[in-house]
Amino acid sequence: MLAPMRIVLVGPPGSGKGTQGPVIAETLGVPYLSTGDLLREQVAAGTPLGRRVADMVERGELVPDDLMLQVVAAALDGDDGYVLDGFPRTVPQALSTEEAGSPVGAPDVAVHLTLPDAVVHRRLEGRAREGGRADDADPEVIDRRLRVYAEQTEPLLAHYRARDMLVSVDGDQPRDQVTEAVLTALEERRRRG
Ligand code: AMP
Repeated sequence: MLAPMRIVLVGPPGSGKGTQGPVIAETLGVPYLSTGDLLREQVAAGTPLGRRVADMVERGELVPDDLMLQVVAAALDGDDGYVLDGFPRTVPQALSTEEAGSPVGAPDVAVHLTLPDAVVHRRLEGRAREGGRADDADPEVIDRRLRVYAEQTEPLLAHYRARDMLVSVDGDQPRDQVTEAVLTALEERRRRG
């Protein structure tokens, strides 16, 4: 039997990670975990973790790396394969998965969902109008999240490219076509071994 795949999704807010992630995870038979969803649930439930991260999540600032590693390790609870949406989000987070004995095993493939800036803004404005997420409603917070993405998350692309782990997929297509493109790219990777 093939080992369960470990996939991380990387892309700007609005690039479709939360739409594609669950479908890809179900197809591959591995758990899907969105760290943003997990943190928002903790905030809403008023747990100690939620209270600790509430301000950061609301403002679109990153939660400290070591705390995030613990949160993801606890959520995966020993599962081998995964589709992660929102983690790793910084190079230090990626490095923490690559350490020997890390509670979150390093991914096999990083899928980069690409999206032009103008489309990112349009999608986030649409999401804001639909309501739901507080951090989608405030233009200042949206700007901060895009800045944080450019400064702290985009360097992950070079990190994974240098390790030959990066696959880029055009996220500016109808959702089924994005899914198909991701699954085809993963299949190809798997064949290559
Ligand atoms: P998201 O739903 O992925 O956009 O995440 C929403 C918010 O949760 C982010 O703006 C951060 O405040 C926090 N967050 C989610 N994942 C991470 C992570 N891997 N590292 C640090 N903060 C995170």
